[in-house]
Amino acid sequence: MTFINFDSKVAVVTGAASGIGEATAKRLAEHGATVVVADIDEDGGDRVVTEITERGGNAVFRRTDVSLEEDVNSLIDFTVSTYGGLHLAHNNAAIGHVPTPLHELSTELFDTITGIGLRGTFFCMRAEIAHMIDHGGGAIVNTASGAALKAASGLHAYVAAKHGVVGLTRNAGLDYARNSIRVNAVAPGTVQTPQMASFPQEMQDEWARIIPMGRMGRPEEVADVVAFLLSDAASFITATTVEIDGAYLQSST
Ligand code: NAD
Repeated sequence: MTFINFDSKVAVVTGAASGIGEATAKRLAEHGATVVVADIDEDGGDRVVTEITERGGNAVFRRTDVSLEEDVNSLIDFTVSTYGGLHLAHNNAAIGHVPTPLHELSTELFDTITGIGLRGTFFCMRAEIAHMIDHGGGAIVNTASGAALKAASGLHAYVAAKHGVVGLTRNAGLDYARNSIRVNAVAPGTVQTPQMASFPQEMQDEWARIIPMGRMGRPEEVADVVAFLLSDAASFITATTVEIDGAYLQSST
């Protein structure tokens, strides 16, 4: 049995000021990693760092817009120069959009959604792998979605971005398998994040009702899978996407 121990490991988590990224940053720190909390939300990022350090962990906030190549490259340069390496990465930042018929979807919205969710993930993977390939390897987990594995009516840009994330994950997992770099993805279903809590209770109840387990997931339930996939306990797992959705994908047509 291999237990998760990230002592002396350095991790980057994007979109770490809230929700799933916040939960992962905290979990990786609990397992001993030094965590670079990357996000555009400075207040949220500072709060997460404070909460990690108050519990005895190591973390620092680095303002990063993942849709900007120079921000991402600077994030990885900062991480390596400050902490001497980069071993673990959770590329998680993305935003959704309101359902919109494809024939009415603006180029700007399509570019924004894919710019953060897909190009941003590519920018992160490229910079992370460029370091890891010459420094003994590493492990990467990308956040996909149930919308990466099936259609989601009206969410054309989000679905395209998330399907792309799964494609990048599979391809990089394949191409870097001999470089000791593992690349996997998680595909959360509906997760109870702060954004979700802002919707009317009746809507939340309905979303929970259609999940076979009868409830939404918790960010910590995704974070635990991310931590597992990043750890040596998952040493033979790469190029795959793990559904975390209370069987929702299997139940929906
Ligand atoms: P969230 O809104 O709680 O957190 C997202 C974080 O990303 C925020 O802190 C936000 O500031 C940050 N962010 C937004 N744009 C950014 C950018 N350009 N650069 C850097 N950071 C940026 O959302 P969440 O629910 O925790 O979502 C996290 C990931 O999980 C996303 O990839 C999302 O698509 C995915 N996901 C969420 C759910 C769900 O039900 N919550 C389901 C499936 C997939």
